[in-house]
Amino acid sequence: MKTIFHLDMDAFFVSVERILDPSLEGKPVIVGGDPHGRGVVAACSYEARKYGLHSAMPIKTAFRLCPNGIYLHGHHKEYGRYSRVVKRLLEKVFPIVERASIDEFYLDFTGCEKIYGAPDSFAERIQKEIWETIGLPCSIGIASNKTVAKIASDFKKPKGITFVPHGKEKEFLAPLKIEKIPGIGKATFNLLHSRGFITVNDIANVSQDYLSILLGKYGTDLWKKANGHGTDLLSVEHERKSISKETTFGKDIVSKTKIESVIFELVGEACQLLRNGMLQTSTVSIKLRYADFSTLTRAKTIKQTDDDKVVYDVAVDLFRKAFTRGVGIRLIGIHLSKLSQFAEQEILFEDEEIARKKMLSAVTKIRDKYGFESIHIGKTEND
Ligand SMILES: [Mg+2]
Repeated sequence: MKTIFHLDMDAFFVSVERILDPSLEGKPVIVGGDPHGRGVVAACSYEARKYGLHSAMPIKTAFRLCPNGIYLHGHHKEYGRYSRVVKRLLEKVFPIVERASIDEFYLDFTGCEKIYGAPDSFAERIQKEIWETIGLPCSIGIASNKTVAKIASDFKKPKGITFVPHGKEKEFLAPLKIEKIPGIGKATFNLLHSRGFITVNDIANVSQDYLSILLGKYGTDLWKKANGHGTDLLSVEHERKSISKETTFGKDIVSKTKIESVIFELVGEACQLLRNGMLQTSTVSIKLRYADFSTLTRAKTIKQTDDDKVVYDVAVDLFRKAFTRGVGIRLIGIHLSKLSQFAEQEILFEDEEIARKKMLSAVTKIRDKYGFESIHIGKTEND
C-alpha cells in the first residue's frame, strides 16, 4: 500500500502576484487580463470567490459580478519560476516528485514514515516550510492513490491538510458531490445528474456494468474512482533531481569524529531516500558552514550508486579535505545529485555486488521497520 501526497498551491497565480505586490493582500484579485476582453479567469483570490467568481469563468461575467476587483494580466514567467522553486524544495525531501501541472505535485511518501514521521504531521511541516520560505500557501491531500489524494487536497482549501487513511477511501468519498471527482465534464455531469446521481456514493452503489453501459469505458473508470481506486504510480520528469540533507548544530562543533558521525547519519538518510525512490546518484557534494558563516561546498562525481558505504567514504573524504580551518562548524550538509532511475536489468553485477545489493535491500527493510537508529553499516568503532 502506498502513501501519496497531492500538493496543490492555493490560488497559485494570485499568491505569486501577492509576493510581487504585497498591497494585493486581502483584496479580490483576478488574473486573466482585460476585464472587457474575451478571456477567461485564469485564477482568482478567495476574496473574489466570495462574489461567485471561479477560474475558467468568462472574464466579462467576472467583471459584472465583481466590478471592484483588481484585474491583472499576470506575470506568467514568474509563475513558472515559482513553480520550479516549489518543486526544488519538494525534491529535497521526497524521493519521487511528479509535477502534474504548474501548481500541483504528486509526492510519493511511501516508506518515509520512519524518517519523517506520520504523513499528516509531515504534511503540516512541508506546508509550513513552503509558506515560510517561499511565501506561498498550499493544500495537501494524502491517500493511498493519486485520485483520492487529489480529491483530498481540494477538501479543505485553502491551507488545508486532509489525510485519508488506508481503507477509508470509499468512506471519505461517499458524501462528496459527484463534481468533486476530477475529470467530470459538464456533459457527463448533466447526464449523471438527470439520472439522479448526486453524491459519489450514488455512483459507488450502482453496478460497474450500469455505468459502463451509460458512459462506456469512462463509466468504468468513474465507478472505480467512486469506489476509492486509482493509480499510485508517479511519472517522474527526466530532469536532474537531487536529495539534500543537512544538520545545523545548536553549538559550533570542532570535533572531526562528531562531524563525521553526523555525516554518516545524513548519508544514511539520503541513501535511504534514494533506495525508496529506486534511484542512484553519481554526484556527491558536501556543504560546510563555519561558525563565522563562511560556507563552502565540495563535490565529486562517482560511478552510479545507492550504497551508503560508497557515498559515506566520498563525503568524508571531501569533508577532510575541506575542513582546514581551526574554526567550529555550524552546519554540515550532504547533497546527492545527477540522480538516475535504478534499472536492475541494465547492470551486470559481480557476485560480490549482488551480495551487497541484497544486503542493502535487507538494511532498507530493517530500517523501514525499526527506524534509522536500528542499523549502521560499514562503520567501525574506530572511525
Ligand atoms: Mg491550485
